[in-house]
Amino acid sequence: MRATRPTTGFAYTDGRGMFVAREERVEHGARIRGERVVRVDACVIGTGAGGGPVAKELAERGMRVAMLEEGEHFTAGGFSTRPRDMLPALYRDAGQTVTVGNLSISLPLGQTVGGTTLVNSGTCFRTPEAVLSLWRERFGLEALTLGELDPYFRRVEREVNVAQVPPELAGNNAHVIKRGAEALGWSGDFIYRNAKGCVGSGVCVFGCPTNAKQHTGITYVPKAWHAGATTYSGVRARRVVVEGGRAKGVEAETAGGGRLRVQCDTVIVACGALHTPLLLRRSGLGTASGQLGENLAIHPATAVRALFDEEINMAHGVPQSFYVDEFADEGIMFEGAAGPPDYLASTFPFSGERHRDLMLRFRNLAQFGVMVSDISRGSVSERAGRLRIRYDLGNEDLESFRRGIELMAELYWAAGAKRVYLPVDGANELRSPDDRPLADIDLRPSKLALMAFHPLGTARADADAQRGVVDSDLRLHGVEGVYVADASVVPSSLGVNPQITIMALATRLAYHLLEESPPTHEPEPESIATPRIRTAHAVAV
Ligand SMILES: Cc1cc2nc3c(=O)[nH]c(=O)nc-3n(C[C@H](O)[C@H](O)[C@H](O)COP(=O)(O)OP(=O)(O)OC[C@H]3O[C@@H](n4cnc5c(N)ncnc54)[C@H](O)[C@@H]3O)c2cc1C
Ligand code: SF4
Repeated sequence: MRATRPTTGFAYTDGRGMFVAREERVEHGARIRGERVVRVDACVIGTGAGGGPVAKELAERGMRVAMLEEGEHFTAGGFSTRPRDMLPALYRDAGQTVTVGNLSISLPLGQTVGGTTLVNSGTCFRTPEAVLSLWRERFGLEALTLGELDPYFRRVEREVNVAQVPPELAGNNAHVIKRGAEALGWSGDFIYRNAKGCVGSGVCVFGCPTNAKQHTGITYVPKAWHAGATTYSGVRARRVVVEGGRAKGVEAETAGGGRLRVQCDTVIVACGALHTPLLLRRSGLGTASGQLGENLAIHPATAVRALFDEEINMAHGVPQSFYVDEFADEGIMFEGAAGPPDYLASTFPFSGERHRDLMLRFRNLAQFGVMVSDISRGSVSERAGRLRIRYDLGNEDLESFRRGIELMAELYWAAGAKRVYLPVDGANELRSPDDRPLADIDLRPSKLALMAFHPLGTARADADAQRGVVDSDLRLHGVEGVYVADASVVPSSLGVNPQITIMALATRLAYHLLEESPPTHEPEPESIATPRIRTAHAVAV
């Protein structure tokens, strides 16, 4: 019988820190000025949710692995936790990545050893069965059943210590939402997160100062070093080299102005959904189906704020610690979105005196997120060496936002709010539950203040080479030895946060490359999150 892994109480707060490797095997690209050639068995490009797990699993089974990472290697000692320092250090383009289209949506990405997992909120959900069922039906991904993925979910969740946030660390922002949801009879729960020894310092997206958040840069990557793999940081892959239909290596440029040539027969591309298509296209790979760079889903999101008489103090507690899934079946998920005052100040929909007044009442403000499992699809391309993200929010998703924002307002009133602030131009403030400004407004996408954190689908998996970029084992159609293991293979919106899906698919890829049977010995979690998603909301295109 398999053992059981604790997931509540001490499972979240017990223990601390990172895996300490025998040797920190990081070669800094800034120090590589000329040409360097390395010969390995596998080259993994990117060290985030996809790249970290593959590199670790392959290295631990004796493969010689090189990890290329455009970002730098950071340790917790260097995290000031101040947004103004950390945004430029840890995020690509200081977090200023945006979409163009019928509105502009901020779409920040991490760029470090650990990828976006170093700056994410740590929320962990498995891929919902309804979504896997859609993938089987629409994309022919017959192998991807819950039963097939279960050992990989269990392995990932043990590696990164997925456990439920205890109520005492969740912060008042979560507790007022819980109170409102209970008053309305709506379903919700404390979130499961990849953390160990979390103290609720509230700055997850600016670098966890205590190494509590178990991002890949302190879990999978050091385990890969321990097994002999090397990370080349500050190194940008320019081209995957394929000859005669077989992978031969990777060419990269270094921060020091040099070149790194990696010779190998196996290349795993894990640059994330915005950059993987660019690298494949530059390499002349993956273009046959016409899907490369297309099919971009982003889970667009917004935040609704409210003023309470009681103290909330969003600077304390786990920022994303509670979710409300009552409407998840409609593609609307509510998740916590607290944070320190200097960050939230930049996101409030007011200026001048009104902004100042609100910030003076920061301790009484609550903020919660509305995330939509989008039907709209965008695309990514490269123009003059720059990433271009095209995304138009369609009418169905717009209506989901209208409904989601109204429902959040209802929840706040039920929780005892005195004012509710909407992220909608021209309808910012509600003074009583009778105010229903969105009912009559001519709501257009450009009136919404949206952000997104989950780009997916730009090198989608599809069993049919005419319709997708990789097959169900994440092998690039038509090429031997090139694989994709990141958010870009996820073929539709998930309705839940994606890191566990990406890590599980990447781990499964490693097992296939190693020709090993699934890790069925992994302990069963005592409990897992079970969001109410009975039908996949996102329609495949
Ligand atoms: C603020 C924020 C909060 C989030 N919160 C959550 C959450 O709570 N739960 C959740 O599930 N998800 C969350 N996400 C999303 C989640 O972190 C991502 O979906 C996930 O990390 C994507 O994994 P990936 O491997 O596709 O890409 P990444 O993790 O982004 O890794 C890609 C890596 O590749 C590197 N790279 C790119 N191009 C090259 C190149 N040419 N050469 C070398 N290296 C390259 C990048 O620098 C990066 O480090 C959040 C995201 C953000 C921005
Ligand atoms: S709340 Fe603080 S201690 Fe906990 S994971 Fe986030 S940054 Fe780390």
